[in-house]
Amino acid sequence: MSITDNIDGIKAHLPEHVRLVAVSKTKPNELLQEAYNHGQRAFGENKVQEMAGKYEELPKDIEWHFIGHLQSNKIKYIAPFVHLIHGVDSFKLLKAINLEAMKVNRIIPCLLQFYIAEEETKFGLSIEEAAEMLNSDEFKSLKNVQISGVMGMATYTNDDNQIRKEFACLKTYFDTLKMDYFAGKPEFKEISMGMSGDYLLALAEGSTMIRIGSNIFGERNYLKNN
Ligand SMILES: *Cc1c(COP(=O)(O)O)cnc(C)c1O
Repeated sequence: MSITDNIDGIKAHLPEHVRLVAVSKTKPNELLQEAYNHGQRAFGENKVQEMAGKYEELPKDIEWHFIGHLQSNKIKYIAPFVHLIHGVDSFKLLKAINLEAMKVNRIIPCLLQFYIAEEETKFGLSIEEAAEMLNSDEFKSLKNVQISGVMGMATYTNDDNQIRKEFACLKTYFDTLKMDYFAGKPEFKEISMGMSGDYLLALAEGSTMIRIGSNIFGERNYLKNN
């Protein structure tokens, strides 16, 4: 199967309103260009340096989605061009993004990452932490970030019921936050959930954005990269 066949195969499952983010981490520019030539515009990366390098070399109308764990001191390298930061997992990080966005005169769209899995290794906010942040005056004073929705990763397991339950939980968080904090805000609309192994379950639970890597570009080399 080619990259273009893979993209077409995934798109055949997608409702109109769901966006496909092609996760290109560890993959060379030639493969991203191949997807681009087939019409793909949203790409996901999880390393700041790698994303900044690819941004320099590839067409400027690509939307770059940062999907990894972002360190405050590295935000500046992607602030001028990043399209959406998926993994905001602390108030501290959001404030740091706001500061860097201000320096480049941008409003950077962000998703709040929630902890929904059973695994302890995954990052994310709890719903209580999110509520505390959203209620604070300091949050309301941040003018250079825009909260566009939520993101989460399910447990890596073969148990479909478990995965479904976790995605359903994220959807509930989205609905609650929408009602309590973003009722009049149409930009709060994204539920980023679903990867190669579980995106059909995520779609069934209301995903609006799926992040697919290996099903498009093939397996990554886990010895050298993640
Ligand atoms: C790597 C990664 C993906 C894509 O994973 P695949 O299983 O290759 O589709 C999606 N989301 C995040 C946060 C990732 O780090």
